[in-house]
Amino acid sequence: MKTEAGNLLADVDAQFERAAVYSHHPRGLLDQVKMCNVVHRMSFPVRDDDGSIRTVEAYRAEHSFHRLPTKGGIRFSPDVTEDEVCALASLMTYKCAIVEAPFGGAKGGVCIDPRKESEGFLERATRRYVAELNRKNMIGPAVDVPAPDYGTGEREMAWIVDTYTALNPSQLNPFACVTGKPISLHGISGRTEATGRGVAIGIAEATASAEDMEAVGLTPGIEGKRVIVQGLGKVGFHAARLLREAGARIVAIAEYDGGIASDVGIDVEAVQQHRAETGSIRGAPGTRTIERPGPVLEMECDILVPAALENQITADNANRIKARVVAEAANGPVDSVGDAILRERGILVIPDLFLNAGGVTVSYFEWLKNIQHVSPERLTSRYQEVATTRVVKALEGATGAHLSDQDFMKAVKGPDEIDLVEAALTDTIIHAYRSVHETWKSRSMPDLRVAAYTLAINRVAQSYAVQGIFP
Ligand code: NAD
Repeated sequence: MKTEAGNLLADVDAQFERAAVYSHHPRGLLDQVKMCNVVHRMSFPVRDDDGSIRTVEAYRAEHSFHRLPTKGGIRFSPDVTEDEVCALASLMTYKCAIVEAPFGGAKGGVCIDPRKESEGFLERATRRYVAELNRKNMIGPAVDVPAPDYGTGEREMAWIVDTYTALNPSQLNPFACVTGKPISLHGISGRTEATGRGVAIGIAEATASAEDMEAVGLTPGIEGKRVIVQGLGKVGFHAARLLREAGARIVAIAEYDGGIASDVGIDVEAVQQHRAETGSIRGAPGTRTIERPGPVLEMECDILVPAALENQITADNANRIKARVVAEAANGPVDSVGDAILRERGILVIPDLFLNAGGVTVSYFEWLKNIQHVSPERLTSRYQEVATTRVVKALEGATGAHLSDQDFMKAVKGPDEIDLVEAALTDTIIHAYRSVHETWKSRSMPDLRVAAYTLAINRVAQSYAVQGIFP
């Protein structure tokens, strides 16, 4: 199935159609599941640092209203297009369906380059973008809830919540209007690393199967696997860090301005430190520098983790990829032609709509925390501690064994917020992978991506069928 090179929307739609063959829904319903329901294109004035006025173009796409609110990140990039945000919003709908987060998909994009703009300009553009969304009722805890994406983070989410709160003073749950906020502004522990953590958990789960690994010529497990990561941003950094903690060897990293490699493995945190000091990963201690990022993807490794942007593995380079597993941490890093080539070459692709769903999963927990006005552990932690203390004391009494004070405290301690978030994220990703895997194997589908799309399409279509179509 050929699509126009570089068109993510055409690629997502092509993948949808590959999966639609496995569903038994009427064509009209499939079209409703597939089409982006609302797109708002806006342009607005933003004052530059020298007092002049610049016009900024931006979008918000709300792909599906089968669940509300809609949910999806905001991307700051000069290359953002309407088609791109529609494609990313579609992926959000399917992703939420796979991890059973009760949202429709959405995505926002603002055509600015955060690397080139001043903090003041970025703040004014962000606040004005929120005002434009608010004007159209396209932001709010019950309607549409943004989050971080490429080029945005906690800082932008803080500006968003502050602007929304100022514009909606009588809202009961204003903090639930956006997720990925700093902890001090009602964010949740573990959100920053959630997508990368989900990627690491998903790769661990996918590579645990001896049968699937034998099919690609690898031994099961993460331990000792050679990994290459493209993009050391919010997703790539935490994925690389956690894969390394799990025993993988990070043999190369690509960034927009070049790459680094080391056969003995890269200390990812030291590289991040070097980047903070010098502005680049190039020249990081203990690594050799590679002039351009592209060739890094084609180096020898077991697992390739593209975690930067879409359309990185295409007809141009898919034949030269040496990895046996490609783990799509970014959205759409493999286009549909590249995907077909990897499939023919027997490479296992772990698809984006499953693999990077850890971010929206923890965003869901943050949104719940905000509408409930309480952290998840607050009502239960002390109770669990008291209950476990009773059990441990009873066991000590019955057996005569005694724990040291330190072991006792460790055994009975109630959970903190981060403990609950990490446990629930792990559970969600593992459960989602098993559902996708079971769909793949039980219906003899060609690959995991078709299985993931099929699962998502069925869940969204079923919810339309149960609700009925209004009027
Ligand atoms: P980010 O802006 O934090 O990081 C992206 C990194 O990629 C940056 O360090 C950038 O310099 C680098 N990069 C850009 N072009 C590159 C190139 N050609 N080669 C190598 N590196 C390059 O963004 P992020 O939030 O980590 O998002 C990365 C991807 O993950 C995007 O596709 C995004 O849509 C997806 N994603 C993000 C989240 C999230 O929670 N942030 C959730 C799901 C999916």
